[in-house]
Amino acid sequence: MSAPPRIALVVDDDPAILRLLRVWLSGAGYTVMIAEGGRQAMEIVELHHPHLVISDWEMPDVNGVDLCRWIRHQTLPHYVYILIQTVRSGSDSVVSALEAGADDFVQKPVSKPEILARLRSADRVLDLEAKLQTLAKTDPLSGLATRRTFQDHLQREWRRAQRHFFPISCVMVDIDFFKRINDTYGHPAGDEAIKQVAQLLEKSVRGSDLVSRFGGEEFCVLLPETDELQAMIWAERTRKQIESQPIKIGKTELNITVSMGLAQRMADTKSPEDMIEMSDQALLVAKNSGRNRVLSYASLSRSPAEDSSEFSPERLFRGLKASEVMTSLVTGLRADENVRSAVQFFLRFRIGSAPVVDADGRLVGILSEKDAMSIMLLPNWGQTPVREVMKTNVVCYEEDTPAIRIYEFLCRVSIRTAVIVSDGKPIGLINRGTLLRWFANNLACHRKHEHSEFTPDLADDLPIFDARQELQATSRALLDAAQRLNDQLEELDQDFTGTVIGGASRIQELVNDLLTNCNDVGPATRKDDQQVHGLAGLLEAMGSALVSEQVNS
Ligand code: GH3
Ligand code: MG
Ligand code: MG
Ligand code: MG
Repeated sequence: MSAPPRIALVVDDDPAILRLLRVWLSGAGYTVMIAEGGRQAMEIVELHHPHLVISDWEMPDVNGVDLCRWIRHQTLPHYVYILIQTVRSGSDSVVSALEAGADDFVQKPVSKPEILARLRSADRVLDLEAKLQTLAKTDPLSGLATRRTFQDHLQREWRRAQRHFFPISCVMVDIDFFKRINDTYGHPAGDEAIKQVAQLLEKSVRGSDLVSRFGGEEFCVLLPETDELQAMIWAERTRKQIESQPIKIGKTELNITVSMGLAQRMADTKSPEDMIEMSDQALLVAKNSGRNRVLSYASLSRSPAEDSSEFSPERLFRGLKASEVMTSLVTGLRADENVRSAVQFFLRFRIGSAPVVDADGRLVGILSEKDAMSIMLLPNWGQTPVREVMKTNVVCYEEDTPAIRIYEFLCRVSIRTAVIVSDGKPIGLINRGTLLRWFANNLACHRKHEHSEFTPDLADDLPIFDARQELQATSRALLDAAQRLNDQLEELDQDFTGTVIGGASRIQELVNDLLTNCNDVGPATRKDDQQVHGLAGLLEAMGSALVSEQVNS
């Protein structure tokens, strides 16, 4: 397959020259683009990345030498060969053009044979540069991407994952006991083994994945739009394939195995390098725990109890989807809403954070109480739009995501809340509290039924959450709080603002606890939530009435 024609950009304020050069250059096989001045040329360079620029020196807006200097400061995907033409003569002019970064210099008026000869020289330089680029990008032994190429690619994919909330994972692969192969069969046999493992890896991935040779007999595979569970499936399948497929070196057949460590980008994974480091740690543990196995970084922090079959989250959340466990949302916050109304929203519904949507209802961020508090000492904080304070790095999952995946995520990261989306629109939240409550209710439920999925011992050991008892306890605490406030007010002479605020806040907390508990009584549906939130308003009003009654009396 031959390479597409190179793009040549001709820049001149003289239309006659533009016409002439277009004909000559097209004839020489270039795809020709035209700019009538330096500024227009800059736009074309940014957008189309020409390989060759033939520019006039004197032009009314940006002159050829300034254009040249500007091009040399851009980060472009390949080298740009620059030829400056001018009516100027004299070595001073040549020197200043070359110092600005020009590759060649022609005097006007130009002749066709001279231009064509200079283009051939340009082609030689561009060919060489392309060859060097390929060499730098691919590893000569395996033909895979080099570590450097991998890192460039990873940066791009990382940004894409952040922007679109896509998952991204990487897998570190290392051949087991490779030194033995070198020692027993010689270095060329070792090389052959590296080549064959590389081919096998390359064949087992999708077009959008990238396999690279990271070092000696170590490979790193980037799996965009892939979460840990999917990466695990790929890695395990590939590991088995390598194990079962002997490598042929001459007449000898070698059985080799690999160990793999994998990691997924999590909300608290700060940089691409951190993700690689995580997969490297998992690889190390895979090596130290016996080789020929795949380990995920997340599994390193799981307790053995979680992995035992008796008490496994897999069993607990079997078949459950995110939408069945989440707390449904009645409303979210709008990005153009102000922080004051967001704060009222938080206080009213006693939620620590809420998803933020755009005018079309699509998820654009998340706002927490903490984010709101961070600006509350600034002037005009209340008028600040939510958009300016919210976090855009939201962890979200589709409604049909297995609940176990979200459980595992929340177990190991510092982030508290995952937003559940349907068609890009938030429909619910899952946080640790949601899961814990779900867990307790589930156990309570199973205890009531004889055909419990859980062993009776397990169900007995766990504290069961009794909603009615909780509600009664909270109501009693509410009465106590109101009584205490009343007593304090009787004792105080004048300045009782602080006391009232303190007492009222406590009462408000308790009212909110009541609401949270009655939210827990059954599996929440959206309708239930609306009723609960209606009740929230009512109880809050009752709480305030109680306080104002005390103050007035
Ligand atoms: P482990 O299971 O712990 O990975 O054991 P190992 O023997 O594979 O240990 P290690 O990864 O430390 O060894 C890698 C060896 O690979 C060391 C080096 O001599 C050899 N090596 C590195 N690059 C090449 C190469 O390009 N060709 C060959 N044939 N050998 C290489
Ligand atoms: Mg001119
Ligand atoms: Mg090794
Ligand atoms: Mg190694």
